[in-house]
Amino acid sequence: PLTEPFRNEPDTDVSLPANQTWARGIGARIADRAWYGALPVPEPFGPGDVDRVVATGRAAAEGWRARGARERAEILNRAADVLAARRAHLLAVAGAEAGKTLDQSDPEVSEAVDFCRWYARRALELEDVDGARFVPDTLVLVTPPWNFPLAIPTGSTVAALAAGAAVLHKPAPETRRCSTAVVEALWAAGVPRDVLQLVDSVEGETGRALVAHEGVDRVVLTGAYETARLFSGWRHGRGLTAETSGKNALVITPSADRDRAVEDLVASAFGHAGQKCSAASLGILVGSVARSERFRRQLLDAASSLVVDRPQNLQATVGPVVGEPGEKLHRALTRLEPGEEWLLEPRPLDDTGRLWRPGIRTGVAPGSFFHRTECFGPVLGLMSAEDLPEALELQNAVDYGLTAGLHSLDPDEISTWVELVQAGNLYVNRGTTGAIVRRQPFGGWKRSAVGPGTKAGGPHYLAGLGTWEKAPFAT
Ligand code: GLU
Repeated sequence: PLTEPFRNEPDTDVSLPANQTWARGIGARIADRAWYGALPVPEPFGPGDVDRVVATGRAAAEGWRARGARERAEILNRAADVLAARRAHLLAVAGAEAGKTLDQSDPEVSEAVDFCRWYARRALELEDVDGARFVPDTLVLVTPPWNFPLAIPTGSTVAALAAGAAVLHKPAPETRRCSTAVVEALWAAGVPRDVLQLVDSVEGETGRALVAHEGVDRVVLTGAYETARLFSGWRHGRGLTAETSGKNALVITPSADRDRAVEDLVASAFGHAGQKCSAASLGILVGSVARSERFRRQLLDAASSLVVDRPQNLQATVGPVVGEPGEKLHRALTRLEPGEEWLLEPRPLDDTGRLWRPGIRTGVAPGSFFHRTECFGPVLGLMSAEDLPEALELQNAVDYGLTAGLHSLDPDEISTWVELVQAGNLYVNRGTTGAIVRRQPFGGWKRSAVGPGTKAGGPHYLAGLGTWEKAPFAT
């Protein structure tokens, strides 16, 4: 019940024999093309339907708001239980549609469950704070990404619903089935179908009409910086909350526990084949670490022992990339820049163009293509710095500021770094991915964010989905 304090949902412990049997069932599902073919996808709609869905959403929002925060919170808290009960189904859909290996998708379900429980509780605090009244957006358009096709669609949608808004959920084209599974769980928990509409357009024109629509108070986007720019042009100054790109580095100083650092760097670089805006795509090695042949060998061993395969192989920890690599990723996978060398050369493992043995390039030069460009795939670049100030300079010399990592056991280094690094999520002696609801509210600065600047999974996120009306207000 809602009166219970918030607790993070645990991931599945697959070392338990019962869970191994359970996981094998999921693997079989992922491989089952007939099952996949029968999964529901949303009915596409056209430009002629845009006004209708907006009007339906706005009308439904009135009743949703009138129910009050407690009733909404109860429904969303129940949604957590529905999602948790459907874990196996969600994992199979994410594996089959998004190529998510089980080690990556399982925490996503936990995060989706957490978002429901967390935002349900935060909704209870939103009304009438210090003589100001929260007025939620009426209608929010949620446009989630394909790379976290369970957690982010759930989190963005549930946040808006908790705040009191109605939602149009427009799936990423790559992960329609995942979005459908999430939305169906929310409906099953009691969110009315007009309060939460699944809207799917095949044509860009319809999507643009929705994003630009005057009846949509806010667009919540998770996607590339370029998309946020485009959306912001269409929005004419109206509400836009966007979590965008990153070019994140993990700094490793000579004081670090190098074994842990290697493990975290590899997991942050290659988890979900590097397709996370939180991924560490640069390792900045400081002083003796940069010169250590042993460190390079350790890193090479760790990266070469990753199991790269489709998610029906339950041992796989690096799955396929979402589509054939686009221009930037293709360049990162196949070309070296001046001064660079492969420590591990990326290699296509089949003829789909989607399954790649990860790569590590060394000697990435300050200001070069790989230093500054988000490539979103299984390639890690190594840079060298003489000392921590130089490492910070390299780490901060990018347009984005989403996540940043430091491995160091020196308290002075840690405090200097925390003070000077320019990123939204700072991780010390930990990888840069996998922010946990409440413990690590997620969101960046510089070009990694557009909008109110409140962090997802944090205490203030809902407050960014509306306006505060100052007293005296009409009651
Ligand atoms: N929240 C995710 C993480 O902490 C990243 C989200 C994204 O890549 O869009 O790894």
